[in-house]
Amino acid sequence: MASKRDYYDVLGVDRNASDEEIKKAFRKLAFQYHPDRNKDDGAEEKFKEVKEAYDILSDSQKRAAYDRFGHAGAQGFGSRGFEGFDFGGFGDIFDAFFGGATRHAGPQQGADLSYHLAITFEEAIFGTEKELEIVRTEVCSVCKGSRSEPGSQPAKCPTCNGTGEVRRTQRSIFGQFINVTTCSRCHGEGRIITKPCSRCNGQGRERFERKIMVKIPPGVDEGTQIRLSGEGDSGKQGGSPGNLYVSLSVQKHKFFQREGDNILYELPINFAQAALGDELQIPTVDGDVSLKIPAGSQTGRVFRIKEKGVPHLRHTGRGDQLVKLSIVTPTSLDETQKKLFKELAKTLGKAALPKEDKSFFEKIKDTFGSGS
Ligand SMILES: [Zn+2]
Ligand SMILES: [Zn+2]
Repeated sequence: MASKRDYYDVLGVDRNASDEEIKKAFRKLAFQYHPDRNKDDGAEEKFKEVKEAYDILSDSQKRAAYDRFGHAGAQGFGSRGFEGFDFGGFGDIFDAFFGGATRHAGPQQGADLSYHLAITFEEAIFGTEKELEIVRTEVCSVCKGSRSEPGSQPAKCPTCNGTGEVRRTQRSIFGQFINVTTCSRCHGEGRIITKPCSRCNGQGRERFERKIMVKIPPGVDEGTQIRLSGEGDSGKQGGSPGNLYVSLSVQKHKFFQREGDNILYELPINFAQAALGDELQIPTVDGDVSLKIPAGSQTGRVFRIKEKGVPHLRHTGRGDQLVKLSIVTPTSLDETQKKLFKELAKTLGKAALPKEDKSFFEKIKDTFGSGS
């Protein structure tokens, strides 16, 4: 996807523009580029861009997110997919601003579908393939989308005499113009179905249960969305099908935790291991790996096991596994152990008193001034 233009630039307003100024700018541009009015190449793209900018900037919450985080911030809102934009019919917005649509019955894109898929921690890391069962609308198997019972023919619409349009003069804030509206009887098609297909009741489409394979790439995470282009509902009047958006949730692991592409693992060890050092087998998602704990290790110390984390989703390489030491104090000691600890305690002395830290007191003085 090409890099997006700044929404304020798209509408030609400055960043402090009031809601009213934004609305005004949008009206002007929407009128100029509306696909029903402007057949130039790129007008539709331009219109979409303008509408997207307006959708964000006219909503105070979305605008605030956009101001702070740019396009990434605004993307957190709405039913938008990976990069797809939830774009409603042109007609709706046109109706809202200018009253009376000039909609033609033409190809209409099919609806997007969404599917929620739960996968395991390991599947998210290494990728997998899953079969989804979905119900979607497709072209009717009997009439092949023509909506007429096989053998019957549609007839010319008597209301618009086959033109699909009804013309009338209208006054608006832009002056007087001929408003061409869609024939309400044939919905702009110019033809009416005389004998509707009995399978789909003249809808031209019917619902099917389908099994779809989805490939989950390695490195996905909670909330990752995968777009399956064209696997949504079929379009109307020859329009392209919608997309299927699969959003993932990842089950928690017993002892691994994810932090971006690193995997965190907390390793409990006892006093003796911490004091004397040890070599231990540590579980990783690729199997056990040996790790040396140096003598005198403190609780909270973190060891990095390179390349045992999550594969990066968008480039090569992997994160690391981070092993955090947690020194566990024994809660029940038998008599022998107690004796040994007591003896040990004698040799260690009363080490529990904090060391006097002169610089600490100096700092306090510095902060509160040398009053005394
Ligand atoms: Zn049919
Ligand atoms: Zn008609």
